[in-house]
Amino acid sequence: MEQTRYIFVTGGVVSSLGKGIISSSIGKLLQAHGYSITIQKYDPYINIDPGTLNPYEHGECYVTVDGMETDLDLGHYERFTGIRTTRGNSVTTGRIYKAVIDKERRGDYLGKTIQVVPHITDEIKRRMKREDDPKHYDFIITEVGGTIGDIESAPFMEAIRQLRWELGSRAISIHLTYVPYLKAAGEFKTKPTQHSVKEMQSMGIQPDVLILRTEYHLDSNLLQKVAAFCNVDRDCVVQSEDLPSIYEVPINMERQGLDKAILRKTGMPVDELPQMSPWRDFLTKMHAVKQEVRIGLVGKYDLQDAYKSIRESLLIAGVYNDCKVKLVFVNSEEVTRENIAEKLEGLSGVVICPGFGLRGIEGKIVAAEYTRTHDIPTFGICLGMQMMVIEFARNVLGYADANSREMDAVTPHNVIDIMESQKNITEMGGTMRLGAYSCKLVEGSRARAIYGSEMVQERHRHRYEFNNAFKAEYEAAGMKCTGINPENDLVEIVEIPGLRWYIGGQFHPEYSTSVLNPHPLFVDFVKVAKG
Ligand code: GLN
Repeated sequence: MEQTRYIFVTGGVVSSLGKGIISSSIGKLLQAHGYSITIQKYDPYINIDPGTLNPYEHGECYVTVDGMETDLDLGHYERFTGIRTTRGNSVTTGRIYKAVIDKERRGDYLGKTIQVVPHITDEIKRRMKREDDPKHYDFIITEVGGTIGDIESAPFMEAIRQLRWELGSRAISIHLTYVPYLKAAGEFKTKPTQHSVKEMQSMGIQPDVLILRTEYHLDSNLLQKVAAFCNVDRDCVVQSEDLPSIYEVPINMERQGLDKAILRKTGMPVDELPQMSPWRDFLTKMHAVKQEVRIGLVGKYDLQDAYKSIRESLLIAGVYNDCKVKLVFVNSEEVTRENIAEKLEGLSGVVICPGFGLRGIEGKIVAAEYTRTHDIPTFGICLGMQMMVIEFARNVLGYADANSREMDAVTPHNVIDIMESQKNITEMGGTMRLGAYSCKLVEGSRARAIYGSEMVQERHRHRYEFNNAFKAEYEAAGMKCTGINPENDLVEIVEIPGLRWYIGGQFHPEYSTSVLNPHPLFVDFVKVAKG
């Protein structure tokens, strides 16, 4: 077994360069060379995890199978590489400090003064090396959030400096920077990149590989110049220009030899080409799509990143149905009974999005009613499923005051209720029903046919559940409970059999879609929506 190699991915100049996509692409290429990999994200903020962060702050919260609420970049890691990330793949400054302070309180440091160097940095290094993970990886890719020079990422940079010193060529630094194009001057500017590399050097880290983000194609002279100014080999400078799809990035990196440069730098054999044919087949399919299918996302967050995994799951499902899914955001706060027909006009399917709290829920209920009564394919996810259930109670079962305990604490028709296990919880962080649970699918149901198996595992992130006291009434009136958690009898899936596609899931199927393994619920939903 080869010794593990470590790749550290940092970003400079500006944020939002797509370090997550680059890290995922590197992971994908190394896998295609036959290596085992994992990718982890280190975020410099103090929150223990992003679970309590508002989506406006940090986009979607992604949940791992073992129930960790993490950064949305882990979603990219899983979708690109098909790996299953766990708790250890998402680390924040808050978690590092908490671990160190807990140790200090236990007396583990034997009377020593606890300092950023070496105690915090040692804890970071231990985790970067994944000393608690029994699995072997040929490559561990570590992406550090934020931008070089941020005060709060300094301990991470120091840990990387030390690891590179200790591990020699087994650890390399990949730095992603931005090369702006100044229209008035008609020139690309490499100065910010040079400064960013200087900043790295001042921290004792010489980047081994530079990836230049750019909106337009850079010519080879410019790459040569950057290499010369920054002490980097010419074959270790590549560009990442804007592409129509993020899924083209791995191929673009391969075309420029990034995989070979990494293998050479880490002392691994550079022989064969990576086995990227399944990935290329996906891209070929993606480029060949003709038909466009418009799918509405009914939710309250009008920003791309809030429903990241749902968006990607739908786009990927589209490719498998030979169509291009065009996503249309429908702000649930603006939806009313009067305007719903207009809001959903031209949509072939509707996803009712997850969420928390009162804001925008009435709009989701109106949307669920409209799509149910007009037989428009509808997919309710978590809160979305709960809204389908409430709508059905109000308009079919005749309980006008039906609601979820989350929104109305006193209604007698609390068709969605707080889970027994959640009743006495007062802390917010990491206390929901989180991670993968099994779900048994009812024979003869649509869900069962879609999954093609009786038992499945799906990831959760919620406190409320379908109230079983009303189950018989629902079933009699036509909304069937077709997925049940076998351990505690929780309803996981509801569906209305007579309709084209009307399914709600208490879980988040979007977390387990990958490019080469799309989630069957999304694939079938888009298939039916496409008609
Ligand atoms: N707010 C709901 C609950 O806690 C749904 C959560 C979600 O959509 N992730 O049960």
